[in-house]
Amino acid sequence: MDYQRILEDIYHEILPFAKEGIQADYIPALAKVNPDQFGMCLQTVSGAVYTCRQADTRFSIQSISKVFSLAMCLSIRGEELWKRVGKEPSGTAFNSLVQLEFEKGIPRNPFINAGAMVLTDILLSELEHPEEQFIAFVRALCGNDEVDYNMEVAASEREKGYLNAAIANLLKYHGTIENDIEHVLNFYFMTCSVEMSCRELAQAFIAFTNHSPFDYCGFRLSSSRIKRLNAVMQTCGFYDEAGEFTYLVGLPGKSGVGGGIVAIYPQRYSVAVWSPRLNIKGNSVMGMKALELLTTRTQESIF
Ligand code: GLU
Repeated sequence: MDYQRILEDIYHEILPFAKEGIQADYIPALAKVNPDQFGMCLQTVSGAVYTCRQADTRFSIQSISKVFSLAMCLSIRGEELWKRVGKEPSGTAFNSLVQLEFEKGIPRNPFINAGAMVLTDILLSELEHPEEQFIAFVRALCGNDEVDYNMEVAASEREKGYLNAAIANLLKYHGTIENDIEHVLNFYFMTCSVEMSCRELAQAFIAFTNHSPFDYCGFRLSSSRIKRLNAVMQTCGFYDEAGEFTYLVGLPGKSGVGGGIVAIYPQRYSVAVWSPRLNIKGNSVMGMKALELLTTRTQESIF
């Protein structure tokens, strides 16, 4: 398969959508990002790497970090984890309070904010040095020790994080989180602030693509757990657009409000795409188009 040619063709085909959508501005630091950027990287399980445009520009991975938190928590807690957080698609916005109140503080899944805060809480309770261990795990996955938190982005989100603070309070009220609300929020915002490029993300997600058991920094996942993590990405990875993404693209993955999307074709390749302009549901406009074209052109999707 000539992936390089396919990526270039896709880029030219999606150019008419380059001005569609708006970048996330509820986190002030993200509002400063130039919205007219695009990068893409596809890596095969055998190690071939194909890139297009700004594949090496780092951006705020935001909710993509939730996959790393979930992998760590699954490694620590195993199936017990699902007593604290569900695994059903939410059908509501990632920062919605309504469902959480209705369901008495048990978040629908680990990829909405409430669910990710439960993961954060578990990491705070279980790890001796949560901040260091989280970033060490991400660095090991992507093979680059320079990947880091962006403390300015984390502080900027904290400053305006009224809705996330409300979610954390509701979780605490229902007894779903053990740690102090401030600690949970600060660490949650830090995990979201990590900056990576498409190349680094594609490399990091190879661990979830090749379905071989892994051990990174002492966090181990069996093939079976990796399969289940993929299943949660498929059903819950794209906000309340998981059905649309499954329909159009047909791959498990995760998106973030920084405009990044990572998707996996199990046992074949991982692909990361980034462009800051988002659609109304919070997914990158050009990113979704690019992935839809990728699976259409290659006829490689899980369906
Ligand atoms: N830090 C963001 C928030 O909590 C993450 C949102 C996302 O990327 O979905 O609002």
